[in-house]
Amino acid sequence: MRQSTLFTKTRREDPANEESINAKLLIRGGFIHKEMAGVYTLLPLGLRVFNNIMGIIREEMNGIGGQEMLMTTLQDPDLWKKTGRWTEEGANAHNGLPWFKTKLSTGNELGIANTHEETLTNILRGHISSYKDLPCYMYQFQNKFRNELRAKSGIMRAREFVMKDLYSFSKTEEEFREFYEACASAYLRIFSRLGLGDRTYRTFASGGAFSKFSDEFQTLSEAGEDIIYIAKEKNIAINKEVFTDDVLAEMNVKREEFEEYKAIEVGNIFPLGTKYSETLGLLYRTEQGTEKPVVMGSYGIGVGRAMGTIVEALHDERGIVWPASVAPFQVHIIVLQGGEQEAEKLYQALEKQGTETLLDDREDKTPGERFADADLIGIPVRIVVSAKTVAMSLGELKKRTEKEPEMIPLNAIPAFFTQS
Ligand code: ATP
Ligand code: MG
Repeated sequence: MRQSTLFTKTRREDPANEESINAKLLIRGGFIHKEMAGVYTLLPLGLRVFNNIMGIIREEMNGIGGQEMLMTTLQDPDLWKKTGRWTEEGANAHNGLPWFKTKLSTGNELGIANTHEETLTNILRGHISSYKDLPCYMYQFQNKFRNELRAKSGIMRAREFVMKDLYSFSKTEEEFREFYEACASAYLRIFSRLGLGDRTYRTFASGGAFSKFSDEFQTLSEAGEDIIYIAKEKNIAINKEVFTDDVLAEMNVKREEFEEYKAIEVGNIFPLGTKYSETLGLLYRTEQGTEKPVVMGSYGIGVGRAMGTIVEALHDERGIVWPASVAPFQVHIIVLQGGEQEAEKLYQALEKQGTETLLDDREDKTPGERFADADLIGIPVRIVVSAKTVAMSLGELKKRTEKEPEMIPLNAIPAFFTQS
């Protein structure tokens, strides 16, 4: 893409009323637009990153047998009244559902979805009746609406956000556990692929109303809203909420073995048992002919929270540092005077081989402004083509993570990207 055609502009100054690093850098780089507190639009650069993150999550969810679908935002209150999660008191007792609600023209209330356990369980009543229909795993990328009290963490805590939510339906507790562990492993792979592997921990957390524990995936960061305790040697992490003497005794570990960290909850997986299947009547016939409730689990990742976490974890004083796996482009070519022709040739060659390239061909910017923008936007590799480099048939290649550039023959640059 030619940067001269990109409608978004970078900004030097931090936006007003944003405390978080992720929102500041993403707004300055032209990735997102703030509509209001906790509500953000994805601009073209932001959408490219977002789609890359979704692509990684989708691959891993398909890899463990997930089937993608898409449920509705508008919700029938009657369904949620059955499980007690429609009223505020009921919702608080069941893990807190901070509803946004709306009304039909008749005056009847409707819900605006913030999770989908009830919805999917109800849908499956029409599709699952026998042990032969199980297990099954459905997921979606869907806009959730939550009336969050605080919205100070940028896109990491939004009032409207896309969640990947998967729900598992199994015959027995053992069958459920097997999938739960497969999903936990898939989550760790996802966070590694997002560049967060070295600082993301599977963390014991409270299980809410359904079971004793759930597992959170917590990425260490000063921007985190959670406190977790880690015993690095034993590779055990526990959320502060459940860091009690009882839990420690049960896990056979000592308080002194742990260190305290701030962390961001990037994912959460929950055993649901038969709570929803019993209440809503999702039963199946066993091989012996008896009827049993389906054993369920739910598995969430916030796509925007993941994107914000990457920015928080990997930025430096000059801007964002995207890992190649999610970067909006793989290469940023900066054309300086006298480099126009060769830069254009290089751009064409890279595009032709499918290497996503941003060509900074803007004529109204100084070289200094372009370098600053390249650092802010955070594309993994920058290549400068100028009269000086062209005279030597070279391009100056610099990785965003490194200080020093290297000179590479212009005609060898395309191969650099097919090999790495
Ligand atoms: P938190 O404790 O941070 O409020 P939660 O426990 O309410 O999160 P879940 O209902 O478990 O979150 O949602 C699954 C995932 O969705 C979370 O792990 C997180 O990645 C993401 N998520 C939750 N709330 C938000 C939000 N307000 N904005 C962006 N992502 C969110
Ligand atoms: Mg949670």
